[in-house]
Amino acid sequence: MKNKFLLLLSTLLFSVLVSSGQEIDPKLTEVYAPVPPIVKPGKTNSDAPSDAIILFGGKNLDEWVSVNDSTKPALWTVKKNNVTVKKGTGNIQTKRKFTDYQLHIEWRIPENITGSGQARGNSGVFLASTGPGDEGYEIQVLDCYENTTYVNGQTGSIYKQSIPLANVCKKPGEWQSYDIVWTAPRFNEDGTVKNPGRITAIQNGVLVQNNTEVKGITVYRGKPYYKKHGAAPIKLQDHGDPSEPISYRNIWVRPL
Ligand code: MG
Repeated sequence: MKNKFLLLLSTLLFSVLVSSGQEIDPKLTEVYAPVPPIVKPGKTNSDAPSDAIILFGGKNLDEWVSVNDSTKPALWTVKKNNVTVKKGTGNIQTKRKFTDYQLHIEWRIPENITGSGQARGNSGVFLASTGPGDEGYEIQVLDCYENTTYVNGQTGSIYKQSIPLANVCKKPGEWQSYDIVWTAPRFNEDGTVKNPGRITAIQNGVLVQNNTEVKGITVYRGKPYYKKHGAAPIKLQDHGDPSEPISYRNIWVRPL
């Protein structure tokens, strides 16, 4: 009631001012604080901005551990500024834990890729690892250049939850990029969901997920579900299909 009255009053005042020819001072709507921090951008989209945490800069996997045993180093192969999945060594995840963030990651399907469907260059970026193995929220990495599969499992999908807005896959052998904004889910004390997670993802400069609401942990069988968690590592998938392993480079994150 009070709000309605105030709205009516301000509308009347505005009408009076306009009809009387008096202009509203533009300064009334200018805000000067808080001042955003200065962030120096990279030279290209691949380069980390000045405030980013470099998760993989080309030299070593110091920021990563093995998911099978998080006391052990990540065993994937670092060579020529890339890190390549070492089949059978399992997923790797960051030592650091994150909540909301902006992530940049580049990946390449090998030129000589073989296989079809889900068994063709399968890997994945888990935005929060909520448990062992593949548990978490996966954005799919796969060769979908001229390879078809279920559309909610193709490149750019939130695995088995959300079809990407476009297929922007480059040919195998070319580097591709994901720029992802992750808003982690929030939970109530009793473990129920307060706010679901949200994902915005851009693949090769094209929007593939637009602030998509996440339905829970991405699963291969059955329905997604939520379970309470806090800050969590970022995880990369050793999928285990027989095709040639994929590579990553230029991985950086900006906690929000
Ligand atoms: Mg995958």
